[in-house]
Amino acid sequence: MSSKQQFVKLNDGHFIPALGFGTYKPQEVPISKSLEAANLAIGAGLRHIDTAYVYHVEEEVGQAIQSKIKAGVVKREDLFITTKLWCTCFRPELVRPSLEKSLKRLQLDYVDLYLIHYPIPLKALEKCKDAGLVKSIGVSNFNHKQLERILNKPGLKYKPVCNQVECHLYLNQSKLLDYCKSKDIVLVAYGALGTQRYKEWVDQNSPVLLHDPVLYDVAKKNKRSPALVALRYLLQRGVVPLAQSFKENEMKENLQVFEFQLSPEDMKTLDGLNKNFRYLSTESFADHPEYPYSEEY
Ligand code: NDP
Repeated sequence: MSSKQQFVKLNDGHFIPALGFGTYKPQEVPISKSLEAANLAIGAGLRHIDTAYVYHVEEEVGQAIQSKIKAGVVKREDLFITTKLWCTCFRPELVRPSLEKSLKRLQLDYVDLYLIHYPIPLKALEKCKDAGLVKSIGVSNFNHKQLERILNKPGLKYKPVCNQVECHLYLNQSKLLDYCKSKDIVLVAYGALGTQRYKEWVDQNSPVLLHDPVLYDVAKKNKRSPALVALRYLLQRGVVPLAQSFKENEMKENLQVFEFQLSPEDMKTLDGLNKNFRYLSTESFADHPEYPYSEEY
């Protein structure tokens, strides 16, 4: 593994690299950019790649992985690949076929982590782990009550190893993080840099996280960029941040997150930025009985 990386131990004994690379692509960006970005990310030293069926980039991510393996840049076991099961395939009999299709697109025998993209039971995923098609299973966008329900399920075979949720300076998720830590579940943060501000999902009038003046001051004091400080803030709280970019210089910069520390005073100042603001509130799902954001956390 790249010496730049650090790892977090999961509750099933596997390790997740402490910085992930996001692969969501807004509709207006050409698909060739996803292949290019995945190639650049692996080349830059990023080893944890977060994708999903619904991003429609698994094929490009798979091509990049294979070309980097063939070129001798990485071995399969050096990479930590996450993909996710989308809502249209939540019926138990559809879970394994859907995973197998993802594996085919990714040109892999297994993924390191398979997530349920939105809240539903975990049973069918346990079978995929038993079949060796995934190393670890986890959830995404679960509130603490939905997690609690899973953890209390009679006959639960594998606890989810992580809960991937929106988390950044404006939504620092301190309560959900405390809850996850108490259950030995890693909180993986998406939107860590304030999201790509997808036109189809994010209100374009929402505040730009990386332009925050307080963040800017802390970054200046530490002689680092606002993006790095935003990532470091999460890392120091025990969160595994994902960071997306199509630019090689940003990918390389983001790996510097392991090279500095924020003081307790800076952490406190950054804690003060929290305003429980969600970029991706997915309000179109608000009528669903499992809509996760009606709970405080
Ligand atoms: P991020 O919050 O990671 O990134 C936002 C933007 O930050 C990028 O588009 C990039 O913009 C900018 N950026 C990156 N690095 C730097 C840097 N060093 N300096 C300055 N700017 C930088 O966005 P995402 O919304 O993509 O979230 C990350 C990933 O999380 C997704 O790609 C996806 O894998 C996952 N995700 C999961 C969800 C779920 O439901 N489970 C939902 C949403 C995302 P620019 O290139 O313009 O500089």
